[in-house]
Amino acid sequence: MTVSVITCREVVEHLSAYVDGEVSPALGEMILVHLGTCPGCRARLTLEQSVKAVVARACTIPAAPSRLRERVQAALEQTRVGYSYTQVTRNREGTTVIQVSGFTEVTGSRSEPAAGRLRFTVGETDTAVALGSGEVAVLGTPRLIAWCEQACLAALAEHLPAAETTVGVHVDLEHLAPSRPGSTVEVTAVLVGTGRRRLTFDCEAIEPDTAVVLARGRLTRVRVLRAAFG
Ligand SMILES: [Zn+2]
Repeated sequence: MTVSVITCREVVEHLSAYVDGEVSPALGEMILVHLGTCPGCRARLTLEQSVKAVVARACTIPAAPSRLRERVQAALEQTRVGYSYTQVTRNREGTTVIQVSGFTEVTGSRSEPAAGRLRFTVGETDTAVALGSGEVAVLGTPRLIAWCEQACLAALAEHLPAAETTVGVHVDLEHLAPSRPGSTVEVTAVLVGTGRRRLTFDCEAIEPDTAVVLARGRLTRVRVLRAAFG
């Protein structure tokens, strides 16, 4: 009879590295033995692999035999990349209305990146005065950061399993230009890097009418199981 010498907690801790082939042979063997006897950890393994697969697909041209790969790349040159597009506005009562508006299509030669693009209208409750972060009635930086984080979540919406979400762990944002109440702000987040659990996004906020760049920066989020915060 095989005795499992590693706990579920230890398996979960090393599972991401295990899927990436980054654990020692000895640890890999213990995990393998454990997976053979534990349906719960096998289910987590399946989840981990599917997440890695979709994130990898979102970031890279898939590995494929060279002739097929050339054909795929040639096809991608002509592929229009769809970005999901969501309109977020606030009415006078402060209610947030979210409405899927369609797709913005651009011509791209890369595989489709995971990207989220959201539009907001600057309201009186979004100003630096209202947020307590400044003394002028223009869009406050804390609200802008929150909008960037929402765009990151939108970028991942179709890529993470329902059991997972992400939490923000690092923000590096330059707020370059002011936005007055009533103006429209379009925020885009593009997934540019993935680690074991870390996801890095390039974010940009523009005034869509004038194409003025209001802010740009880089945000990092970490994948977590929703149940861990239940
Ligand atoms: Zn287990």
